[in-house]
Amino acid sequence: MRSFVYNGQPSRVVFGAGSLEHLEREMQLLGANRALVLCTPEQQPLAEDIARRLGSRAAGVYPKAVMHVPVETAAAAVDEAKRVSADCALAVGGGSTTGLGKAIALQSGLPILAIPTTYAGSEMTPIWGMTENGLKKTGRDARVLPRTVIYDPELTVSLPVGLSVTSGMNAIAHAAEGLYAQDSNPVMDLMAEEGIRALAAALPMLRANPADITARASALYGAWLCGTVLGNVGMALHHKLCHTLGGTLNLPHAEVHTVVLPHAIAFNANAAPEAMKKIARALGRDDAALGLYRLAKDNGAPVALRDIGMKAEDIGRIEQLAVQNPYWNPRPVNAQAEGALRELLQRAWEGSPPSH
Ligand code: NAD
Repeated sequence: MRSFVYNGQPSRVVFGAGSLEHLEREMQLLGANRALVLCTPEQQPLAEDIARRLGSRAAGVYPKAVMHVPVETAAAAVDEAKRVSADCALAVGGGSTTGLGKAIALQSGLPILAIPTTYAGSEMTPIWGMTENGLKKTGRDARVLPRTVIYDPELTVSLPVGLSVTSGMNAIAHAAEGLYAQDSNPVMDLMAEEGIRALAAALPMLRANPADITARASALYGAWLCGTVLGNVGMALHHKLCHTLGGTLNLPHAEVHTVVLPHAIAFNANAAPEAMKKIARALGRDDAALGLYRLAKDNGAPVALRDIGMKAEDIGRIEQLAVQNPYWNPRPVNAQAEGALRELLQRAWEGSPPSH
């Protein structure tokens, strides 16, 4: 067995249908008495319901979370937390809301209690992101890792089927890249393979019946595992491309991950054969890249960048940006790989199956 470093991240996870009922207990265990409940404008009714449950332990509802955490939104949320003397940021929602909680934690040191309602996985990572003048900055800081996470599958039943599938593919992307990470370790490999397996089994089930609580639980369990992988090991070409496509062209986050993933995996296939075996096994398919493409397509998700807002003339720009700053990838992303990278982007743009 090869040598490795395993760095456990300290967070408490409470999982299960109906586990929202443990919220007050979890607040007490956290030593928190005044939570500022964060959400997007669309999820305000859920946040208000949570604030009602908390009674005097709720300091207020702040329904202003938006995609990519603009610095102005973050600053206003920090001010609000101070104004209401909050001692905890309670983030109920997807990655955008957790992201706002992280911005508060980064600047004020308040602990985060997260209640995720998508499969993005941000709640399991110490990674923060904020956008200033159209540029997204990211960083790592132990203070932004939520201390407690309540995973209640019942809160994900309302997630529309389309977003459930793309959000699930977003989670699978964390695990797939984690399997060939430079700093991977056997524990993360186990979590990654199991996370992909749980999500791949759940997506067709919840597409057939969005209220299927067994499928919702399996998907959220998979999202937890995949998010843990993202928080523990480094990512590579796939995440770099998605970050560039999302940041530069403002394409929707989960959809971009869904479209790019099969192609990034195909690009790396020959350089990471062990990871490919594990991904394929978790999907129950012969080929990792094709299996991911089919999982997305068969479940009605977009498979072409041109269908989610990218123009053909942007391919060259994205290719240039993707090779600008060197970063680790199992197959080096250098001048020799330029033709293959162009082909990857071309195929992803037109929605062709991945090729390797
Ligand atoms: P999101 O949080 O933007 O949510 C998308 C939409 O779905 C919102 O309108 C939200 O209100 C709605 N929604 C969420 N849950 C719902 C539910 N159960 N029912 C009905 N509607 C619901 O989307 P996301 O994909 O979860 O998060 C994307 C953001 O998270 C990106 O900005 C990405 O960069 C960030 N992210 C960060 C990390 C990290 O580790 N820092 C990890 C993953 C994602």
